[in-house]
Amino acid sequence: MIKYILKCKNKHEFESWFSDSKEFDRLKNKNLIECIFCQTKKVDKSIMAPSVANSKLHNGQRQISKLKMKNFKKDLLKLRKFVEKNFEYVEQNFANKVREVYYDKNNKKNIYGKATQDEKEELKEEGIDLVNIPWVDKDN
Ligand SMILES: [Zn+2]
Repeated sequence: MIKYILKCKNKHEFESWFSDSKEFDRLKNKNLIECIFCQTKKVDKSIMAPSVANSKLHNGQRQISKLKMKNFKKDLLKLRKFVEKNFEYVEQNFANKVREVYYDKNNKKNIYGKATQDEKEELKEEGIDLVNIPWVDKDN
C-alpha cells in the first residue's frame, strides 16, 4: 500500500491509498479518481508521501519497545531501592572493603559501591565475583 497526497485543479488536497504506485495511473486513466471535495476528475499526485502502509506497524513496535523499556526501568529501580535498603554503600576503597567482607567469615555485611574494571578483574582472580547492577536514575 502506498499513500499519495492528491491535489485537484481547485487545489484541494487529500490523501488516498493505492495498492501500488501503478494503481494511481491506472485509475486515473479510467477516470476513476476524483476530488473528494469537488468531484473533479482533474486530480494529480501532489508531493509524494512515501509512507507505506506498515509504517504504522513500525510506530507500534517502537511504542512497544518504549513500554518495555519503561517496565525494565521500573524493575531496575526496584532493584536499586532494594540494594540501597539492604546494602551498605561504600564510597571509597570499595574493592578493599569487598575483600574485608569476603575474607572475614564473621562479616555478613552486604555492601555495594563502584569498582573499576581493573579492580573487578583483580577481585575475580581472587575468586570474588561482583554483580553488576545497571544503576538507573530515579528521576527521568
Ligand atoms: Zn477539488
